[in-house]
Amino acid sequence: MKSNNIICSAGFNYCMVQWDGSIFKCYAHNDFKDYSLTKLKIGNIKNKDFFDLEISPLCERYCCNEYCDMLGTQQWNNQELINDSKKMMLWPVVEKFEQLDENNFTVCVDLVSGCQNKCPYCWLTKNKMFDLRHIEGTHWINFIKYISSVKKGIKFFNISGLGEPTVHPDFCQIINEALISDFHVAVTTSALNLNNKKLKQILSGLSQKEKNKFSIIISLHPLSPLWSQEKLEELLKEFKNNNYTNIYFNFVNFSQNMKFKEELIKMGEKYDIKEFRSVDYLDE
Ligand code: SF4
Repeated sequence: MKSNNIICSAGFNYCMVQWDGSIFKCYAHNDFKDYSLTKLKIGNIKNKDFFDLEISPLCERYCCNEYCDMLGTQQWNNQELINDSKKMMLWPVVEKFEQLDENNFTVCVDLVSGCQNKCPYCWLTKNKMFDLRHIEGTHWINFIKYISSVKKGIKFFNISGLGEPTVHPDFCQIINEALISDFHVAVTTSALNLNNKKLKQILSGLSQKEKNKFSIIISLHPLSPLWSQEKLEELLKEFKNNNYTNIYFNFVNFSQNMKFKEELIKMGEKYDIKEFRSVDYLDE
């Protein structure tokens, strides 16, 4: 489906950066391996010349593929919002075409590629993508500083898939820089590598206002060989003792997971988790 009247927010106030530094207008090529969409690539954070790029090209291709409208973008037809998948995400969304503001910007990040957690339902496990691949933190920090210098509105740095981001060696410094640079930051993590020391590193030197902009979305994976419910509870206890409560739970409705669900909901209630989200697993 394509119409000249339809525009998409991808690229305009939203971009996606892969673990190797490639910058794309949207997620479509990545999640569904449609590499023909590499034409949506608009640069690489490792190259100095990305500083000269126009980072706000509105996308008029609606739809790139049949999945496009599920990937964190918004589309308008004759200035009417006709599709909004950003509501799935944590950050506020614009409700009207007039509110599209090129001062605002969301960066969706795959900080690493690869994960050791081996959850049975994960695409990475199925493809044996256990080895960690990443680029140096300085590239991310330069990129964050650049976006912060050109975008003065509401900014989001959303770190999620292609692996476990907390194992990036410069994870804490990258998040700290994003928070100092006035980004809201959300990290989706299994939390299996997270501890109070890392949280303190991330939040060190920040004002309370900056600290409040940081959210952790813990993906619960009780079938991972590395899973430890005791360790998770210990972590939540430490967070609570430090008055850190910007925590959400994600749970996969996978058949063998279900016996853990009730107990994890109770754990969430005990430690003031903001929201318990369940996502359906469709491939069973
Ligand atoms: S923790 Fe996440 S990325 Fe890692 S194997 Fe499990 S589902 Fe996949």
